[in-house]
Amino acid sequence: MDNVLRSSLTPPFYFGQILVQNVNGAMFVLSHRDDQSLHQLQRFRDAEDAAKIARFDDAGNYRPLKTAPNLRHGWRLELATIEDLRRALNYFYPARLAAFAAWKSGHLETTPLRKTLERQSGMYRVAAKISDPQINALVADFCRSDTGCLRTILWRRDGKGAIASTKLPGEKFDPACDQATASIPPGSTSPATRADSSTVPLLCQEGCNLLVAECRKVVKGENPTL
Ligand code: SF4
Repeated sequence: MDNVLRSSLTPPFYFGQILVQNVNGAMFVLSHRDDQSLHQLQRFRDAEDAAKIARFDDAGNYRPLKTAPNLRHGWRLELATIEDLRRALNYFYPARLAAFAAWKSGHLETTPLRKTLERQSGMYRVAAKISDPQINALVADFCRSDTGCLRTILWRRDGKGAIASTKLPGEKFDPACDQATASIPPGSTSPATRADSSTVPLLCQEGCNLLVAECRKVVKGENPTL
């Protein structure tokens, strides 16, 4: 693990909805950030248990987007080494530590959404026909931090640098803001809480497959909200 990452993973810190602490001599104790008291939580001790915890929300529904703000509550994961911690965090939020390390060292490349859409094939090729106003509305709805996704958007709408959505507050594009505490009604400028130095942001360097699928639905008239 490189030094950039190692220095950022010093407890206590937040990563999305996860709190990482040192408790009673255990090197790393992870829990949902709403469960800070750590009382009466189901105990796990294996990094691989993170995959099970991350799979379903509190209601037992599958979580297709791991950075959605619906991580289940009621668990406590104790880990002995920083390598275990890295593995567990990768199960919770796949590839987000690597993106963070690349961003910290100035090497994270971003891809405009138009480029992501243009390289689709098969049934998703039609997604590229989505209009700019439709992207503006869709991203505001689908990527918003309070109900959609906790990642900070770093990509632009197109190669000219247009913002992904003018309907999201500026904080959605700022890695210094803690998206997990955001409450962002559509069209509002309500700020996400500014993160302190103990928050590691979840970064989004390009539109995900789920957003591409939503673009396709919009083009095909299958998205009832747009
Ligand atoms: S495009 Fe990025 S911010 Fe939007 S839902 Fe997908 S992963 Fe989250």
